Amino acid sequence: MQEDRIELLRPQMGTSRALTVRRYGKPGSGPKAYFQAALHADELPGVITLHHLEKQLKEADEKGDITGEIVVVPFANPIGFTQYVDMKPIGRFEMRSGQNFNRHYPDLGPAVVEAVASRLTQNADENVKIIRAELRRLISEHRKDNAPLSDLSDLRFTLAELAIDADYVMDLHCDWEAPMHLYISDHNWPDAQDLSAQIGSECSLIAEISGDNPFDEAFSRPWVELRRVYGDKFPIPMATLATTIELRGDRDVYDEYAITDADNLFKFLQRRGLIKGDPGPLPEAKCDATPLSGVDRVMAPQGGMVVFGVAAGEIVKAGQELGYVLDCETGQKTPFSSRTDGVLYSRIGIRLIVPGGYLCSVAGPEALPGREGQLLLSK
Ligand SMILES: [Zn+2]
Repeated sequence: MQEDRIELLRPQMGTSRALTVRRYGKPGSGPKAYFQAALHADELPGVITLHHLEKQLKEADEKGDITGEIVVVPFANPIGFTQYVDMKPIGRFEMRSGQNFNRHYPDLGPAVVEAVASRLTQNADENVKIIRAELRRLISEHRKDNAPLSDLSDLRFTLAELAIDADYVMDLHCDWEAPMHLYISDHNWPDAQDLSAQIGSECSLIAEISGDNPFDEAFSRPWVELRRVYGDKFPIPMATLATTIELRGDRDVYDEYAITDADNLFKFLQRRGLIKGDPGPLPEAKCDATPLSGVDRVMAPQGGMVVFGVAAGEIVKAGQELGYVLDCETGQKTPFSSRTDGVLYSRIGIRLIVPGGYLCSVAGPEALPGREGQLLLSK
């Protein structure tokens, strides 16, 4: 194992920030996997999961069992880690710009399509090498083109540079109150069925473009674009499987979950040939993929207190009462429901709600009217 400390742009006189990066295995010896946790800095289940996964990786590395390269950034957002208001961590949005830490990653698709125009061959492996070399070059060029950078942009580029040439990009997040679920490109499906089954995902949401360039899409989308433009003339695999794994809710920080989740990620790496050893039989999948455009975001019909009647993870019917919002001044009690049947896979973690505020999400099997463009919850 090799540990590096990458100094980030100093945000101000008298301050400094850094990323810890640990590398297992050998670069170029096989496939590369990249893991990070807490890009939304108040989402800690991924941090404890990586803590346990790294114990397994260290042991495997010492035995010489790692047959690829595994890069781990155990906490990806030192900026967000220091944001606190009213005794609460504020980790989803940067307080200076208001931007979501998991949006606005570079879209290298158009640039890489142009860069490899005359260089592709009839050999798929060769094409992957050529494309990855260009992606590495383009991301550092893009960093230079955006100078001078803010500390937030510097963080985004630094993380993107670490992940840009990985075969597997695993961004570990969590929801507020939720069962295990994941987001992934529809072009990585059904390839990622084994990941979904192995981690016990109860809701696997697929979309090509979910809006505003979240981290994972920065690594899957260039391959989608390349295959769309050149796929009928040259062999180009969907070489990067990039996903956002939502490790339940933000309070689900327990060894019991994290040890199991780490073990499942380790088995996935074994199944994909990055670590020697038998992962055992694949568990039966708990869900099939459903479209992100089939998610109904249920919003509060009025301000007040939300009282849920359905737990996160339950299967619900369209029109079923999922709970109500109570205005204790007027006595107005307004029930809410979803437009679709499906799994209620996300509930807000607070109970004091504003009109139009987010309440919960239900993942249905079919695209819903009006669900296009911005498919994720917030910018
Ligand atoms: Zn998140």
